[in-house]
Amino acid sequence: MDNTATMRIVPFPPAALPPRNIIPQTPEPNTHAAMFQNTVRKITRLPIFAAAVAAAAVAAAIATGCSTSDGPPPWYYPNTEEHHAGMHTLREHHIRPTDWHVHIFRGGMTPEKAIERASHSGIRSAVVENHGVEWPLSDDAKLRDYIAKARAAKDPFTRKPLPVGIQVNDRDWHKQIAPELLAQLDYVLADTMIMGVTPDGKRQQRLWQLKEPIRDADAWFEKYFAHCLRVVNEPISILANPTYLPDSVAAQYDRLWTPERMTTLIEAAKRNNVAIEIQAASPFPKIAFIKLAKKLGAKFTFGTNNFTDKPQNLSAWFRAVEEAGLTANDFMIPQKKF
Ligand SMILES: [Zn+2]
Repeated sequence: MDNTATMRIVPFPPAALPPRNIIPQTPEPNTHAAMFQNTVRKITRLPIFAAAVAAAAVAAAIATGCSTSDGPPPWYYPNTEEHHAGMHTLREHHIRPTDWHVHIFRGGMTPEKAIERASHSGIRSAVVENHGVEWPLSDDAKLRDYIAKARAAKDPFTRKPLPVGIQVNDRDWHKQIAPELLAQLDYVLADTMIMGVTPDGKRQQRLWQLKEPIRDADAWFEKYFAHCLRVVNEPISILANPTYLPDSVAAQYDRLWTPERMTTLIEAAKRNNVAIEIQAASPFPKIAFIKLAKKLGAKFTFGTNNFTDKPQNLSAWFRAVEEAGLTANDFMIPQKKF
């Protein structure tokens, strides 16, 4: 039997594979993509019936995102046209992305998985965990242990650990943490989603868990806006999920976040060398804010804010880059403040 003749009618590639012209140009050794191509090469040497069966099984596994014994680990980015097209957009804009908002020791995520995903995807990774009285890193001993564990994992190629940061949730965090531990952190990330309801910042409200709807949106927003300015003036490196609004007032975003208020927040971020996060898992900030921040010369970082070890859909990153015309110059390495 002439196998070279039958090779040409094997139904490959499956629909889930990216077109050739948008497969990443950089060779990535030991990647799942390489394993997959090897599998394809082997299959095409088999008799046609076995090849078709094997091809259909691999295609089905990829399409459903399942992990077979040979399939991609669930913490890898999906091998989809949408993802590859988005990565292609970033390359066209000369952006080599870093995800600065990867929570480790949450939902099965680990620094080792972050390193493996980064080397497979070309999206560099840094890691954080939540710090605060009601959070996993609630004292210096826990923070010390976290830093040691996060730094223990080394990139197999560079032999370096990932940048290690924390997400801070109490407004006096910089007074709680021992200076020698602050000095060990590469960066500090904060969002504005937890709000003190008294002047001294005690009795905190997690805004995504509000039980009562906000009745007077304008009065509430005055306090919230002051809270946003307080956070951006702390010695943080990244303002995560900026311009976030709770569900009950989210529909009023365009009215509450006036250009003047956006400008005040952006100018404070600029003045303090704080990066503005473009987050994959959130509708905030909206594109108008990103465009204005670019125009005013503020700098950005990317983040995903995972709850498990599964990757987030990055379409919000890709859309922001495309619609606001961001380039490598619009991104910054988060500044160490201690
Ligand atoms: Zn987070």
